[in-house]
Amino acid sequence: MIKGRAIAVRGVVQGVGFRPFVHELAGRLGLSGWVKNLGSEVRIEVEGDEAGLDEFVKELTRSAPPLARIASVECEERAALGARGFVIESSSAHEGGTVLLPPDVATCDDCLRELFDPGDRRYQYPFLNCTQCGPRLTIVRQAPYDRERTSMVGFPMCTECRAEYDDPSDRRFHAQPVACPACGPRLRLLDAGGAPIASEDLLGHVAGMIAAGSIVAVKGLGGYHLVCDAASAEAVERLRERKHRPSKAFAVAVAELEGARRLCELTAVEETALLSARRPIVLATRRPGAPVAAAVAPGSPYLGVMLPSTPLQHLLLRATGGGTLVMTSGNRADEPVAIDDAEALERLRGIADAFLANDRPILRRADDSVVRAVSETIVPIRRARGHAPEPVPLARPCPAPILAVGGQLKSVFALGQERNAFLSPHIGDLGGYVAWKSFTDTLVSWERLLAIEPGAVAHDLHPDYASTQYAVARARESGLPAIAVQHHHAHLASCLAENQAAGPAIGVVFDGAGLGPDGAVWGGEFLVGDLLSAERRAHLRYTPMPGGDGAVREPWRMAAAYLTEAQESLSELERRVGSGPVGTIRSMLTRRVNCPLTSSVGRLFDAISSLAGLGDAASFEGEAAMRLEWLATGLPADGLYPFELDAAGGALVADLRPAVRAIAADGRRGAAPAAIARRFHSTLVELVVAVCLRLRSEGAPAAVALTGGVFQNAILAAECRASLQDAGFRVYSHALVPPNDGGLCLGQLAIAAARLRAGVR
Ligand code: ZN
Ligand code: ZN
Ligand code: FE
Repeated sequence: MIKGRAIAVRGVVQGVGFRPFVHELAGRLGLSGWVKNLGSEVRIEVEGDEAGLDEFVKELTRSAPPLARIASVECEERAALGARGFVIESSSAHEGGTVLLPPDVATCDDCLRELFDPGDRRYQYPFLNCTQCGPRLTIVRQAPYDRERTSMVGFPMCTECRAEYDDPSDRRFHAQPVACPACGPRLRLLDAGGAPIASEDLLGHVAGMIAAGSIVAVKGLGGYHLVCDAASAEAVERLRERKHRPSKAFAVAVAELEGARRLCELTAVEETALLSARRPIVLATRRPGAPVAAAVAPGSPYLGVMLPSTPLQHLLLRATGGGTLVMTSGNRADEPVAIDDAEALERLRGIADAFLANDRPILRRADDSVVRAVSETIVPIRRARGHAPEPVPLARPCPAPILAVGGQLKSVFALGQERNAFLSPHIGDLGGYVAWKSFTDTLVSWERLLAIEPGAVAHDLHPDYASTQYAVARARESGLPAIAVQHHHAHLASCLAENQAAGPAIGVVFDGAGLGPDGAVWGGEFLVGDLLSAERRAHLRYTPMPGGDGAVREPWRMAAAYLTEAQESLSELERRVGSGPVGTIRSMLTRRVNCPLTSSVGRLFDAISSLAGLGDAASFEGEAAMRLEWLATGLPADGLYPFELDAAGGALVADLRPAVRAIAADGRRGAAPAAIARRFHSTLVELVVAVCLRLRSEGAPAAVALTGGVFQNAILAAECRASLQDAGFRVYSHALVPPNDGGLCLGQLAIAAARLRAGVR
């Protein structure tokens, strides 16, 4: 007997070849009916015999296309209407619900074969793609995901492309960005001033320029890259100078895994990450003698390496003879990456010697994602291309749609609806106008794309964060509740939320800076709490931070502060930095002028880095701390420095002055900086375990969340985890969102949801 079923499939089911898969499946089972995209879901009506229908529903999830992520399949019995054949109907406009789009996906193997097959009509075509690969987020204007709502709307398909697009058995069936040399986007090359450069072989021309030491701006998937020869010290130095980036490492790209293996010692998890469809930059241990200029990653034992994610990158790397290319964000200093051609010409003027542009507009900015391995876990450092807009799943649904605006320096916002937290790609430091505009523009367009209208806004406690100011103004104008969340509580909640944990747990939150409710700069915190609330149960002893944020660029100031607190002499610092500047800081410290108090572990790292003689200036927050980690990398544990736990009033206070005295003495004795660095790391691990044990003995739970930007430090993250597990703790850490402020918005969102549920603000 012929029966009917109406089926709704939710999840990442649009733009992944799901409808052709359904079409093929129905055909194979001899069923009739139709399938279409309807708003956020795929709707199917299907008729046939009972056994065939059962098999159909089972196979829907069992053999779905690789890029699909199925959240639910809902089935309803229907009377059979006598449908004939199975058809794919065109999409209906949006009808509410959450739209799940796939992220941009690296070129698949099938497409790659065509790219390098001289007999294929897409031979060497830099924009080829199919339903299993290619741009998604970066080309979509609006849901549902159909060609007329993408940046491909300006490229009418030729007959051949149209035939592939319309053929359910073709692997380009309804691949929205489908194109070929006859009908699709084209490259163009412009000189430094924006005048076109004519050439029969544009990529050959660009490769020649790069080989000659030029810097070329290349339009990619989610923005421009600045590209030069990574082996040329001169080219890399020039790029540093022009980009005003004195020392922060550049990422490099190589054509194939073999190339990456020549540069780095790769573990299995690192290779898997490199080859994944997300294609992030992987921070891996560089081989001694790796063929890249020292200036690519000065002083670092690591190298950020990636494999090509687009046909254009494959072609460019081949054209340069399989070399190693610096491929860094097309921006000036900390601004967001340029996406618009005119904007790129303007903002990258004076940096790029030429522009390899194309006529496919980038509708959404997406930087390269960055990850690193901590033991066997891949930890995101920057979450952008290849991830967004894939949601982070929440353990409990949001009681209302929520906007969480994140922090200030590594800006990322989140939109929460039901059980999904949609994190924006990394936006960057909101201090500048370009970033601020990118933040507000991205927010507007994401709310439209996801059809989410926030019913509440969550933000940091810090009144000076641009994100806080936006949230407060928006809440006031729209009459929405504004939910202020303490910075370190948000970090703790972020770690709990991505682990689907509700708490309570001990949150070991180590970072650079976040405002505490007492007005001090927190950053070395042990909180005990859950998503609703947290109590500060221990912290690093307060130390003055001479000049406030000014101390960040001059780590020696924190050394001066710690030495003064420990009643140690500043004479060694005076010898290095000069008695003038040290005198100024000393008098600031004695008179407590412009010296906010801080418990920040980031600033402690600055102080120790300076005491170990690793430099007295930093061009970005965390640079001094990184140097300390680099030096200790690969060394076996060797002793500890002393510290004290003081329980005199309320919260437990971890006093590191004894360690500072011992380190100063080590320095006077001429101890190797690497030995100091290694011992300091062991000391922090010991401190974390000691405090957690103490808190547990006082009734805190036997679960610990390790979070905050300091836990990007692989030594600290791995050793804290191992030692805490040995001590019987359950340990939560990050694998979906960054431990740094890039993950803050997820915590704000989880806390706001918990408070709305509980009816507290
Ligand atoms: Zn493909
Ligand atoms: Zn075509
Ligand atoms: Fe933070």
